[in-house]
Amino acid sequence: MSERDAIPSVRLLIDGRFVESASEQWRDIVNPATQQVLARVPFATGAELNAAVASAREAFKSWRKTPITARARVFLKYQQLIREHLKELAAILTAEQGKTLADAEGDVLRGLEVVEHAAGIGNLQLGELANNVAAGVDTYTLLQPLGVCAGITPFNFPAMIPLWMFPMAIACGNTFVLKPSELDPMVAMRLAELALEAGIPPGVLNVVHGGAEAVDRLCEHPDIKAISFVGSTRIGSHVYRRASQAGKRVQCMMGAKNHAIVLPDAHREQTLANLAGAAFGAAGQRCMAVSVAILVGEARQWLPELVAKAASLKVNAGVEPGSDLGPLISRAALERVCSLIECGVQEGAQLELDGRHPPVSDYPQGNFVGPTVFSEVTPEMSIYREEIFGPVLCVMQAATLDEAIALVNANPHGNGTALFTRSGAAARHFQEEIDVGQVGINVPIPVPVPLFSFTGSRASKLGDLGPYGKQIVQFYTQTKTVTQRWFDEGDVGGPVNTTITL
Ligand code: NAD
Repeated sequence: MSERDAIPSVRLLIDGRFVESASEQWRDIVNPATQQVLARVPFATGAELNAAVASAREAFKSWRKTPITARARVFLKYQQLIREHLKELAAILTAEQGKTLADAEGDVLRGLEVVEHAAGIGNLQLGELANNVAAGVDTYTLLQPLGVCAGITPFNFPAMIPLWMFPMAIACGNTFVLKPSELDPMVAMRLAELALEAGIPPGVLNVVHGGAEAVDRLCEHPDIKAISFVGSTRIGSHVYRRASQAGKRVQCMMGAKNHAIVLPDAHREQTLANLAGAAFGAAGQRCMAVSVAILVGEARQWLPELVAKAASLKVNAGVEPGSDLGPLISRAALERVCSLIECGVQEGAQLELDGRHPPVSDYPQGNFVGPTVFSEVTPEMSIYREEIFGPVLCVMQAATLDEAIALVNANPHGNGTALFTRSGAAARHFQEEIDVGQVGINVPIPVPVPLFSFTGSRASKLGDLGPYGKQIVQFYTQTKTVTQRWFDEGDVGGPVNTTITL
């Protein structure tokens, strides 16, 4: 057996069985800290993808009729299994994605919250009823599952984002085809194994792998009713167009350039610690990472302290204790981030802290970039216009809160933002005027818990309804409005025409 043959392959999940793909096209999954090849992932063939959808379609016939309490119980069991396997899931995630073990556990735990929410589906998938809308007539709504739904997920939260999708879709009575990121699909596969162990029947959850071709096939497959996408704005816009044109319900959560505004009355120590964590944690590979800090008025004097905080963070492999940030996902990401840093220098920004080529002696092959801080950044610069998706913070200045708000609202993206202040009046003004989905007041990464829904404005979101929370029940169900009347034996007459006269 050759060395290559010894590399494990990632399976497809079709009709309740983990199967080896017949594909000719494969990709290595590489540990970003060591470059060790962990496994190979197939680009599923068209026939395999069709088989996954056909299985989901068949399974829908009985799953849609499964009592809501039985569906809820599966997720009660599932949350327990995820909790029991937390360390194992985090270890897989760190190996293939690179983030620290603490961040990897956070990735799983934020997804777990959605599973817990799915276990409460009995309280969520409720219709409405109006009694006596006309004499003897009641009107009520049923929130019925759609059928086969599909999910396409990015590399940066390889556990949380699949868990944003399939638990709530399935809890609502749908069946699901998941296409995880081809860069780090292993933790999603372990989550799929645990889902089957929790009692999800064959065909209700399927997993296929691949890239652009698989995504396009999902967008156009006539048996898929809805697509949930999380990833970049470029690919999400393509998915939205293509799947909408094919008549599907689509939600796309996309790219970001998140600004934090710092007023001079903010709690200095807390604010700077929060900013450093939000800008550089997970190596900046968070859709909610703070990538721009706007220091208002006298807060501009905090820059040296911010730079010192950034410089104190420890760059190392995610498995190493004490590591604050791990490597970037790939060599390509490393090169892209370094070339954007170079662009920033060429375009005239002031490089306060250069994180390129940090010394990480035990991991010389790792895709590491350390915390990097630019000041004197202007809106025309590439480092401001592009989502860098690395540990790079652009620092800008504004004279007033309104000037800072105008800057944020002029940026194409509207994913997350935060204001640091001790003034309630300033906070309320900010909350009212800012055009961004997730708004934090002294909270740097305001990702909502699943009692609410994730959202986004402008280039960060397409589609009306967001992932998880109340909105996702609307997204994954079709409202049927029933108007009914029953006649007693003695009733005579009634309206001649078929509409109800009020
Ligand atoms: P990506 O857009 O490259 O990939 C997302 C998915 O699309 C993957 O499953 C990938 O296989 C698929 N894909 C890639 N190229 C494609 C193509 N040409 N045609 C069709 N499908 C294709 O995103 P990524 O690099 O994996 O993730 C990072 C991006 O995701 C960042 O922009 C980040 O801001 C965004 N993100 C957004 C949110 C949010 O909730 N708004 C959350 C996490 C990540």
